[in-house]
Amino acid sequence: MIERTVDFERLRYMRCGTCSHEWEVDTEWLDRFDTGDEPCPECGTDCTSENCPNFWVRPQDPVHDDSTVRDLYWYHSSTHAVWPDRDFDPTAQLTDDTKKMMEHDGLFPGAVERWAARQRSKALHVGTYEAAIENMLRRMTDQSDAGSQFYLHRVQLRTDCVIEPGIHREPTDFVGDAQLAGKCGPGVNALRYVNVHEDPSNVSLAIEIDAVWRVQTIPIPLAVDADDSELSAATERLLAEAGKPAVEEPPEDGDDQIEQLFRRHRVPVTPLAAEAGALREEVADRLPSMRRARFNVEFDEAGYAAAPSAFPAKLIGLARLIDNPRAVIDALAEQPWRYV
Ligand SMILES: [Zn+2]
Repeated sequence: MIERTVDFERLRYMRCGTCSHEWEVDTEWLDRFDTGDEPCPECGTDCTSENCPNFWVRPQDPVHDDSTVRDLYWYHSSTHAVWPDRDFDPTAQLTDDTKKMMEHDGLFPGAVERWAARQRSKALHVGTYEAAIENMLRRMTDQSDAGSQFYLHRVQLRTDCVIEPGIHREPTDFVGDAQLAGKCGPGVNALRYVNVHEDPSNVSLAIEIDAVWRVQTIPIPLAVDADDSELSAATERLLAEAGKPAVEEPPEDGDDQIEQLFRRHRVPVTPLAAEAGALREEVADRLPSMRRARFNVEFDEAGYAAAPSAFPAKLIGLARLIDNPRAVIDALAEQPWRYV
């Protein structure tokens, strides 16, 4: 089996939708591209064009080869401890009222069951370690999963899984309800696509559960030892500010009336919350620049006294998923395999 080298800062590979030029870019180039200040170096097409440059897979990437795809470890992050799950019941999360609504009070009998069947046949997604971690960070920011427990799953595919030839664009409907059936050749249960959102320009797979042989799982982030020196230092810093009253911001010279109004109505921040914010910024600054904007961990000030080290432990644990992936993969490797 092949474990790929983890690198959150690698160069990305682009392909121009207008002239088909392909080249490598760094984060600074992508920032300029996103603001319209950097076009395709060959034909000048910028990000405003429908056929603009987008992420693509390097021609020499070994995942072009089917046997390599089967030999690689693939990753998925999820709030489910057991994934993928043949016994997954999507209706378990629905209330009776919701079910009644879906069947329009009996007008559409079986609507709930048809919906559940569609949910169960949705393609699963696996990708690189980086893509799985970035997916978790995105969900923590975007989908009110900030407080959820996440799990990292390491997947080994079946040696007889059937892979659709070629590497494809991610069809937009794969974000929601996506089935491989009807989109791929007969019997296909794995499709390679270019991930343009997470670990962009690397390949992810849309798969059916039958393509999965076995899975290892750990909760993430890894627990940080209570006597960890970084954790102790961060906890001390919060402790030093705890209990201090919030200080009103003094008016500044040159405030206009609007600014004065804002200042008066702003809820004053406690020194504790300010220090928590500073810790978060310092940890975010250590992360690769593309990810910085996505690092969002809420500080629960009301719950601080009950668990003073919980917030710094979460921050440090998350940062180590990125700057010490080896420890995470070693922890995964010690887990028993679950056969799917
Ligand atoms: Zn071009």
